[in-house]
Amino acid sequence: MNNRIIVTGGSGLVGRYLKDIMPDAIYLSSKDYDLINPIEVEQMFIDLKPNIIIHLAAKVGGIFDNMNKPAEYFDENILMNTLIVKYSKKYNVDRLIAILSTCIYPDVVDNYPMVESDLHIGPPAPTNFTYGYAKRCLGVQIDAYNKQYDTKYNYLIPSNLYGEYDNFGENSHYVAALIKKIIIAKQKGEKNIQLFGTGKPLRQFMYAGDFAKIIKRCIDDNIYENFNISTDNYTIKEIAEIALKACDAEYLDLLFDSTKPDGQYRKDVSNDKMLNIIDDFEPMTLFDGIKKTYDYLIKNNKI
Ligand code: NAP
Repeated sequence: MNNRIIVTGGSGLVGRYLKDIMPDAIYLSSKDYDLINPIEVEQMFIDLKPNIIIHLAAKVGGIFDNMNKPAEYFDENILMNTLIVKYSKKYNVDRLIAILSTCIYPDVVDNYPMVESDLHIGPPAPTNFTYGYAKRCLGVQIDAYNKQYDTKYNYLIPSNLYGEYDNFGENSHYVAALIKKIIIAKQKGEKNIQLFGTGKPLRQFMYAGDFAKIIKRCIDDNIYENFNISTDNYTIKEIAEIALKACDAEYLDLLFDSTKPDGQYRKDVSNDKMLNIIDDFEPMTLFDGIKKTYDYLIKNNKI
């Protein structure tokens, strides 16, 4: 039987990259089916009869939105995830690949980088507590289904992502916001850019196109394990310095507004398990990924 693959959240950042390399799958957005509505979710399974689901859909946002709307982040993510797993089982889906996030890990642990077995040793960071908890529950739900129903579902745990198709609007993540600030400063002839916090927290940012390739590999190579996916760990300041170089803007000074929150100090995860499974993985460097994103935004007048 030919695979019938549906991708929830297909209009988002990761979905756009996946579409480039898996053009035959069906890419869905909330306009097709609202996944917090059980009737629409069940209708999606009835209409499309998938045998493989890549579940990307989520309510995703920056630190301020997460802190201002904790109930929405919890409700929407818990509902979408629970319904997707439940109906995957009801409609005998062969493969479900779900996407979690390194936000699911404890706020603080004794040893870094964190490994997959560290997941339940403490609560997620307060700055995205409900998003992190809802995503953690998706892992718990999938483990439970595999145990009780012998399903073959799995989940991937990526670090922060960025790329050409990122959200460069109000509720953006750090690298997207950074590139946008650099472009605007260049356009206005300014001498500096201002960043929130102290610049000291550590973050792993991966090019979203690389992450999409790993999702495809899981299907092509029948990989059913759950694992972290991450890259190099840099301070927020180091990331800004790399971005200035990549955007040809080294003359801009970096000003840090330490009255604004830093968020979690560090949340780096280990890539070791993934490299045992996919040993030829060669991620794009942060410099190259930011340069590619910047060039795309300039060429297409996106900012
Ligand atoms: P994104 O760009 O924010 O896209 C979210 C997608 O989810 C969109 O396609 C959106 O559809 C869909 N969606 C949201 N609410 C929905 C609803 N009620 N019903 C149906 N669809 C809905 O997300 P992304 O950055 O590609 O992230 C993909 C996955 O990776 C997510 O599970 C996210 O949690 C995870 N992740 C992301 C990052 C990151 O840095 N971006 C890091 C770690 C993990 P519309 O276009 O119609 O709104």
